[in-house]
Amino acid sequence: MSLIERDSQHLWHPYTQHKTAALPIAIKKGEGALLWDENDKEYIDAIASWWVNPFGHSNKFIADAIYKQLTTLEHVLFGGFTHEPAIVLAEKLIEILPKNQQKIFFSDNGSTAVEVAIKVALQYFFNKGEKKTTIIAFENAFHGDTFAAMAASGISFYTQAFQGMFIDVIRIPVPVKGQEQESFETLKNVIQSHNCAGFIFEPLVQGAAGMVMYEPEALDELIRICRVNNVLTIADEVMTGFGKTGKTFAMDYQVEMPDMMCLSKALTGGTIPMAITTFTQDIFDAFYDEDINKALFHGHTFTANPTGCAAALASLELLQTSEMQANLLRVNKSHLAFQKKIANHPRVLTTRVLGVIFALEIKTESSESYYGTLRNKLYNFFIENGVILRPVGNIVYILPPYIISEKQLDRIYQVIQNALESV
Ligand SMILES: *Cc1c(COP(=O)(O)O)cnc(C)c1O
Repeated sequence: MSLIERDSQHLWHPYTQHKTAALPIAIKKGEGALLWDENDKEYIDAIASWWVNPFGHSNKFIADAIYKQLTTLEHVLFGGFTHEPAIVLAEKLIEILPKNQQKIFFSDNGSTAVEVAIKVALQYFFNKGEKKTTIIAFENAFHGDTFAAMAASGISFYTQAFQGMFIDVIRIPVPVKGQEQESFETLKNVIQSHNCAGFIFEPLVQGAAGMVMYEPEALDELIRICRVNNVLTIADEVMTGFGKTGKTFAMDYQVEMPDMMCLSKALTGGTIPMAITTFTQDIFDAFYDEDINKALFHGHTFTANPTGCAAALASLELLQTSEMQANLLRVNKSHLAFQKKIANHPRVLTTRVLGVIFALEIKTESSESYYGTLRNKLYNFFIENGVILRPVGNIVYILPPYIISEKQLDRIYQVIQNALESV
């Protein structure tokens, strides 16, 4: 039996309607920006395997760091114990995070990083004896699939089976060009009319919504409104973190600083599942008390896994090399050149670029749904042509490993252009 036949016996895949979905592709090997399937067909990973992989597949430098850690101390519980990889990683992150971020809490994936942030926002006010239970989030946000993260997410078909079972979340419009004032006014009104504990947002780019972008000035204004009204701000940098926007964090474009940040995806260079939520000293202090009930009673078995920490440290080291910084600039430059070339194509509605992220919206007759027919035709066309791109509705985006070659980028651009002609 082939791997694909064996897969369909027992495996249940994410975001997949197994009755109608095409069979999965069995990947055997990865190197750099390339993947090979069981029939040796080659693919360019143009979306860094769901945005996790900045430095290429099977990266030797990270693999060596992981091996060294695995054969020194693979794991130890983090309740009542600590270890050097977690301490060094915390020190290194504090150096590069926005200045007000002082405390680091570990978990296992983006959703749990968000879950921790939302729980902390709610308990922060509980500990202070204030009743604030509403969370504010953007329309079409995506923050993950656990319960509080789902509640904060606004992509409805992900969450419609669970309506009525969520914590209170109120949505405000994203301050895209022309909609800034409406976003500010709605935020002010929501804060006036509800007891809001926190505002969670994907800074500058909403990934799962289709790489929807907005300006730093607008985000600064939203954060200021929250600050003067004593609403905690949570920057969900699970997607944007570690170079994707051209700076280490999207929040590096901001004047204002958030109260909390969520990190995962590229944190370990796409190798080991790990996540971090970061906090200001003020937030930590609201839990610091003689009273045990004011502690944060949250933890995961694999909290601060040393091997994950070692992978994250190796990953940070790679990100900070001048070669990698040059790669970020190079990929951005190529995207901008392609944008210029393609923006006036009759089938292109809009294009946008930030850092290594490129997005293009295709004109459609009717309003296509997230998983509509055009989307599937495009996806199949890209796969046939050996390029892994997963359009979101009529939006095609590229978010490659930073080490992708110019030749591989040109191939992606060419395949997208061909798709515009023939799909
Ligand atoms: C992917 C993502 C998450 C969820 O992360 P998982 O590791 O898939 O749980 C949360 N927030 C944002 C912005 C993301 O892109």
